[in-house]
Amino acid sequence: MNSKSIDMQGGSGLPIASGASVATDALVAPGDSAAPGGAVASEANGGETFDVAVIGAGPAGLTAGLYAARAGLRTAVFEQLSPGGQLAQTERIENYPGFSEGAGGFELAWSMKEQAERFGVQIINEGVSSLDLALPVKQLRTPYGSYSARSVIVATGARPRKLGVPGEAQLTGRGVSYCATCDGSFFRGKTVMVVGGGNTAAADAIYLSRLAERVILVHRRDKLRATPVYHDQLAKLENVSFMWSTEVRALHGEEGKLVSAQVEHLSDGALETVPVDGVFVAVGTQPNTEFLAGALPLDAGGYIAASETGETPIPGVFAAGDVRAKALRQVVTAVSDGAVCAEQAANHVAI
Ligand SMILES: Cc1cc2nc3c(=O)[nH]c(=O)nc-3n(C[C@H](O)[C@H](O)[C@H](O)COP(=O)(O)OP(=O)(O)OC[C@H]3O[C@@H](n4cnc5c(N)ncnc54)[C@H](O)[C@@H]3O)c2cc1C
Repeated sequence: MNSKSIDMQGGSGLPIASGASVATDALVAPGDSAAPGGAVASEANGGETFDVAVIGAGPAGLTAGLYAARAGLRTAVFEQLSPGGQLAQTERIENYPGFSEGAGGFELAWSMKEQAERFGVQIINEGVSSLDLALPVKQLRTPYGSYSARSVIVATGARPRKLGVPGEAQLTGRGVSYCATCDGSFFRGKTVMVVGGGNTAAADAIYLSRLAERVILVHRRDKLRATPVYHDQLAKLENVSFMWSTEVRALHGEEGKLVSAQVEHLSDGALETVPVDGVFVAVGTQPNTEFLAGALPLDAGGYIAASETGETPIPGVFAAGDVRAKALRQVVTAVSDGAVCAEQAANHVAI
């Protein structure tokens, strides 16, 4: 692997937060109230209570903000990084209606942010670290200050799940990545492994097949969970091979760069060392709900269990997008959730 192939600092080979910061730094436009710092934000707030505080400026949060502000509600959207969420890290989105040729994820996220701001959404670039939700006026705390709101929409999304094997943390950004579209171009002409068996793993393998010389898809089962359309596409790709019923047990590096993955064949427990330049982990996502710490009930996976209209068990608190327990985590469902939650929040505030 040459130096270019491992120079992934700032790609999402780093924890997703870092990938997002690279992809979306430019989204913080001069003049945003988004400048980190409680003083600025608190002055902007004027000490008043927001009608709606949205936590997270991904597609769900920006849409919730758009609908709430357009309905005349005093609306703030809190974001710990830069607006756009996972969408801003997506090179191209082809399944969002209205874009017959597809759309750049970054550009679409930018447009969502601008549209929300046009209707008066105040974006506050501060991560919410804790909440008090029990009283009618909710309290939100960030590292820079405290804010109050009459309703709260949690739209904090999700992040990629880790393999949890030796070497993964040390080699993240040095051959290990969680976003093929972000980091795939570092591996032109190389050998890469994709770990997982769902739609993301299949899509990643297809995407990487156009860049890498060889793609090895490692899956712990004997067939993919991905939808059939992916099976057909993968079958046609000569540079994609499969290692069925195998699990990655360790990742090895030399001089700080990934050089191989150790996999276990589950049928007989045999270990095999596979030389690879890159490993793309696509084994699911983890909700960004740690900061809720008992403030809201979560399901076993850590997702917020909300009703069809986004209501949680706490009056005035709603959940939208990938952070919810739901069947399909996509931009189109995230924006739908955001709109529905804003409507519910408006109804709540009007009571
Ligand atoms: C590589 C990749 C490719 C994808 N491709 C597609 C595709 O082709 N089509 C499609 O429909 N979907 C795609 N998706 C999925 C899609 O991007 C997500 O479903 C969608 O972005 C979810 O939106 P969201 O607003 O719920 O969450 P996110 O997009 O995850 O946004 C959540 C936001 O909340 C912020 N946040 C988290 N915690 C806090 C906190 N405590 N305080 C303040 N802010 C916080 C995060 O920084 C983030 O900006 C893709 C995702 C990835 C990663």
